[in-house]
Amino acid sequence: MIHYSNYIDGAFVDGANGEKITVTNPATGEEISTIPETQLDQVEAAIAAAERAQPAWAALPAVARAKHLHELADKLREKVDPLARVITEEQGKTLPLARVEVNFTADYIDYMAEWGRRIEGDVIESDRPKENIFLFHKPIGVVAGILPWNFPFFLIARKLAPALICGNAIVLKPSEETPNNAFEFCKILSETDIPAGIVNLVSGYGASVGRALTESPKVGMISFTGSVETGSRIMAAAAENITRVNLELGGKAPAIVTANADLDLAATAIQASRVINSGQVCNCAERIYVQRSVAAEFTEKLVEKMKAARFGNPLEDETLDYGPMINQAGYEKIVRLLESSVSDGAKVLCGGQRGEGEGGYYFEPTVVAECTQEMDIVKEEIFGPVVPIVVFDEIDDAIAMANDTEYGLTSSVFSNDINEAMNLVEALNFGETYINREHFEAMQGYHAGWRKSGIGGADGKHGLHEFLQTQVVYLQRS
Ligand code: NAD
Repeated sequence: MIHYSNYIDGAFVDGANGEKITVTNPATGEEISTIPETQLDQVEAAIAAAERAQPAWAALPAVARAKHLHELADKLREKVDPLARVITEEQGKTLPLARVEVNFTADYIDYMAEWGRRIEGDVIESDRPKENIFLFHKPIGVVAGILPWNFPFFLIARKLAPALICGNAIVLKPSEETPNNAFEFCKILSETDIPAGIVNLVSGYGASVGRALTESPKVGMISFTGSVETGSRIMAAAAENITRVNLELGGKAPAIVTANADLDLAATAIQASRVINSGQVCNCAERIYVQRSVAAEFTEKLVEKMKAARFGNPLEDETLDYGPMINQAGYEKIVRLLESSVSDGAKVLCGGQRGEGEGGYYFEPTVVAECTQEMDIVKEEIFGPVVPIVVFDEIDDAIAMANDTEYGLTSSVFSNDINEAMNLVEALNFGETYINREHFEAMQGYHAGWRKSGIGGADGKHGLHEFLQTQVVYLQRS
């Protein structure tokens, strides 16, 4: 079994003092690696290395930093297959999806690198004679990147690439569920000319290693993706030093299917949204509101498509639609939400049971009808291949129910009436809305949750600017 070592100041160093965390394959329960539960002095050493290295990195022309990032992206592309295997083995997504994740990660790094020449300041008109006011964008310093397990490889890039192109250094902490891919990422990074200390990786539990990163006065920004509960703890820890936080948290995305929708398209997009990554995706459709006149026809189509989804051990069959749940807790949450919905009067139209598969927590593709807004399954993030359906009569009822949530990440509308669709978009209080397509964002967009789904956002020019601070200079000439 492989044992990974932390990556600090350009070297792989063991940080465990004997304490290790065992990583398992969620498809089989088999133990696949051990990683350090890093001691706090080593977390501090990683932060100190980043702090030492950052000024020289920031002093490079942005185009030189971009060159390093392009080199990294190229090296990742040379290893798509082995990296995809590592991701699938510890996370449970299908191999084709893992390959998409690796390629998307490389493309994302290239995309952010291209911003090097495009970070522009302002020259502002002064009230005084012979004065110029300049606004510069400056790096923040050391960024802590704390990662979840569902798209663990891509999320490295979502934090590292904008941080580095803006002249920051970074300390990454992967999820204890899926750290192996991050160590493999650092192995590849160590073969580039990116200077020592600019990227560091420490592994361990959130309550110890994650917390130490968020409490450090030397960390200028915490970029976190994960649950609302952890996001809230991170904000509290960051408050002590007034550290900037960038939080991408959970979601409970509504999909509204009106009487004017293309029902085949809606059913296809929603099915894809629910089974990709075993339904463990923050931005995917988590609750469906369908108009009464088309509810029966739409539901029938969706049930048919969900039933067709095949699951199993993703390392054994590349043609599967999805794999296991990440762990027992994830599986038990699905069971709890499903059981409580049934006891409150909902009807399971397909699935509803643990799927066969030795050692792993699999769940059948499931459609639950006759749900109401009050049910937990319509309110809480399910994070599994389960679709609850609520029927509505008036569009205003759908809007009210869709907006009735503490989350605000993504939403979608299925309607071929452009007026109806755009009126719905205007009324929906979510950071992202997809019209007549699956839930998935583009790297040049801006992925930012409202309400408890987050603070700030990622991607595109707006996401890039989260990793910068401004300095305004007043020049008085004589
Ligand atoms: P999680 O909050 O349990 O863990 C995320 C990370 O935080 C892990 O690395 C963990 O070790 C660390 N952590 C835990 N406690 C900590 C603490 N006190 N201080 C610092 N770090 C701590 O989340 P998860 O289960 O890994 O991920 C699933 C969640 O992430 C879902 O809610 C999902 O919706 C959300 N998510 C959101 C987005 C988005 O873009 N908004 C993307 C992916 C996942």
